[in-house]
Amino acid sequence: MPEIKKINFLKDVIGIETVFASAKKPKNTDSLNFETLKSQVLKCNKCRLAQTRTNIVFGEGNINARLMLVGEGPGFDEDKQGRPFVGKAGKLLDKIINAMTLTRDDVYIANIVKCRPPENRNPFDDEIRACIGYLHKQIKMINPEVIVCLGSVATNSLLNIKASITKIRGKFCSFQNIKVMPTYHPAYLLRNESMKKFVWEDMKEVMKELDLKK
Ligand code: URA
Repeated sequence: MPEIKKINFLKDVIGIETVFASAKKPKNTDSLNFETLKSQVLKCNKCRLAQTRTNIVFGEGNINARLMLVGEGPGFDEDKQGRPFVGKAGKLLDKIINAMTLTRDDVYIANIVKCRPPENRNPFDDEIRACIGYLHKQIKMINPEVIVCLGSVATNSLLNIKASITKIRGKFCSFQNIKVMPTYHPAYLLRNESMKKFVWEDMKEVMKELDLKK
């Protein structure tokens, strides 16, 4: 029986050593504009939350991200550190991102409001209206393929609807032609462990959309 040599088509035939997963979206070269937006946001006084905040939480991550995750607004730890999702809910969000085969450096994380509402209350409508333009600009510049909205405030504010998160989660919606997946907020999962399986179902849909394999 002659020995059959296994041929690596890319390496042996075409001579390509390394293949980078092709990003479907064009690379973002607008980092200057992104920094300009950030410096504007870091001076914002458009609503009452400016009076009680310690730090503005602009958002962070990869401005070329294919996936954006949007929360409601900074909590105690985020307000202290000026970074999104760094408290207990953030640790769980990290695990969710990692389970999707990604890291925080692959994605972009932002919030509907950039300043902490006192006592972690939900942001008021006028605060959301004052702030959401910043998120719209972030989304426009990053131009992700998928946005995951974490919880009902993020979902309803971004999509400008009034839906129950229980009913709408798990179904792709659309924001300016970008797919939006509403799911439960990680803080809710910390109080309701049994709901984690639904978030995983939703994230598997997102992984399919982004061609991410386990
Ligand atoms: N919850 C949010 O919605 N956003 C954060 O950044 C942290 C907690």
